[in-house]
Amino acid sequence: MGILKLIVVVLVVWLGFSLFKKIRKPSVKTEEKSSSSKMLACSVCKTHIPENEAIIQDGKVYCSKEHLE
Ligand SMILES: [Zn+2]
Repeated sequence: MGILKLIVVVLVVWLGFSLFKKIRKPSVKTEEKSSSSKMLACSVCKTHIPENEAIIQDGKVYCSKEHLE
């Protein structure tokens, strides 16, 4: 009886732990995604913006169309 109870407790703890890992995994993935996207500094205001949102012209980086002009 004692051993059975211990096995049940271990199983419950293991299940809880694996569930916790499953819940945590997506957040880790999104963190990796955001960190892998290159950050560029605007040559006008020095604001750091993701590469896919930046406007690059003549080798210079701009955060918005206002700074491009
Ligand atoms: Zn700017």
